[in-house]
Amino acid sequence: MQPDEFRRIGHEVIDWIADYRERLADLPVRSRVEPGWVRSRLAPLPERGEGFDGLLADLDRVVVPGTTHWQHPGFYAYFPSNASLPSVLGDLLSSGLGVQGMLWSTSPACTEVEQHLLDELVGAMGLPESFRGGGVIQDTASSAALVAVLAALHRKSDKWRQSGVDGGETVYVSSQTHSSVERAARMAGLGAESVRAIAVSPGDQSMDAAELAGQVQSDVDNGRTPVLVCATVGTTGTGAVDPIRAVAEVCARHGIWLHVDAAWAGPAALCPEHRHLFDGLELADSFCANAHKWMLTAFDLSLFWTAHPDVLVDALTILPEYLRNSATESGAVVDYRDWQIPLGRRFRALKLWSVLRWYGLEGIRAHLRGHVELAGLLESWVAADERWDLVAPRSLSLVTIAHRDGDAATRRALDAVNAEGTAFLTHTVVNGRLAIRVAIGAEATREHHVRAMWDALRAAGERDGEATRP
Ligand code: PLP
Repeated sequence: MQPDEFRRIGHEVIDWIADYRERLADLPVRSRVEPGWVRSRLAPLPERGEGFDGLLADLDRVVVPGTTHWQHPGFYAYFPSNASLPSVLGDLLSSGLGVQGMLWSTSPACTEVEQHLLDELVGAMGLPESFRGGGVIQDTASSAALVAVLAALHRKSDKWRQSGVDGGETVYVSSQTHSSVERAARMAGLGAESVRAIAVSPGDQSMDAAELAGQVQSDVDNGRTPVLVCATVGTTGTGAVDPIRAVAEVCARHGIWLHVDAAWAGPAALCPEHRHLFDGLELADSFCANAHKWMLTAFDLSLFWTAHPDVLVDALTILPEYLRNSATESGAVVDYRDWQIPLGRRFRALKLWSVLRWYGLEGIRAHLRGHVELAGLLESWVAADERWDLVAPRSLSLVTIAHRDGDAATRRALDAVNAEGTAFLTHTVVNGRLAIRVAIGAEATREHHVRAMWDALRAAGERDGEATRP
């Protein structure tokens, strides 16, 4: 493809994306296709190149019906995965430059724009100064957890790089921590028995720091080696916030690495009124917040900071001859390849930069605050309804609710609304009770969308009550 063809077809592709976003709200949120439907409609690979028209036609014919529309205003499932249009353009610019930024010297701008943004965000998010100079973009929070575990293992024992784990190393999470942390431990060579799931308080679902202290002490007494604790700000089930300061005290007593996972809630630190959720973060060794969830940035882009980049780099670095270069040897540059799992890296900072410059910090705060306000409204409607309960305290823009008639009624209301196609909700279990998670966070969601979703849930709940009442 020559640049002039790219220019012509590129306009068509941008038009296609703009048209898709314009008509998004009219599509059913969730794909309704059966397994195999998409594959059954795909042609064999062409022997000869065929241009772009057929591909664009297949997007309409096969891909759109086979897509769940995460940018739909009725998307309340899981957590949001914002892909704002400025971030889409930033992603395109990144691909257009075609940079692979594994070393500073393979593209200085790729490294230095990233360093600049991560340091600027330390100030904008009120993060501890110990994180300045320790920021890097990871692909996902799962990778962030893995590099934190590896750095923690290395800090605990300088033998780890030579001989690996000895099996006694132990990682602590809560029963509500995201499964990616247990998986990180597994990938680092620790078995499931090396991961302790600490109980949470039944009220707000936050980690019980006293139980953590007891478990760590008993492990130490039994000859185990506590390595890392993961505290979460905004758990996946209900948005619970673990008490970072109290957890950090336990970590300090035993020299344990404290990783704080704020994959979803992290961007809320941009708003001063939510900073209390991060109290004690200055005591953490590492912290992660996904820009690709609630911060308007197209998947994937996870913000990661550590107060000990030297430990992380030392844990991961291997310098083969083919990567040697004078900039690295001068010691004056950062080579981000040593801060992550893969060697190669995309110029992800461009899409974050696009978001930060298009919206400004004030625009991003307005995006976050708008959702928190909508969630507050929903919370008030649920509290005023005698047939529904809030099963956990609202956390920012996440509201967790259940029907008072029990799990079957909650399940039927959930299924009924999901079947309608105007909203998509997912569930969790809180203290043994099935609950619907309403995670408000799509850029296009407005009050009338939330009201319509709530009216649909209530109507389904009432139909259900009529059907099941004697
Ligand atoms: N941590 C929390 C609290 C999450 O909610 C999630 C995903 O929803 C993750 C980690 C994993 O995120 P990622 O897909 O970026 O690895």
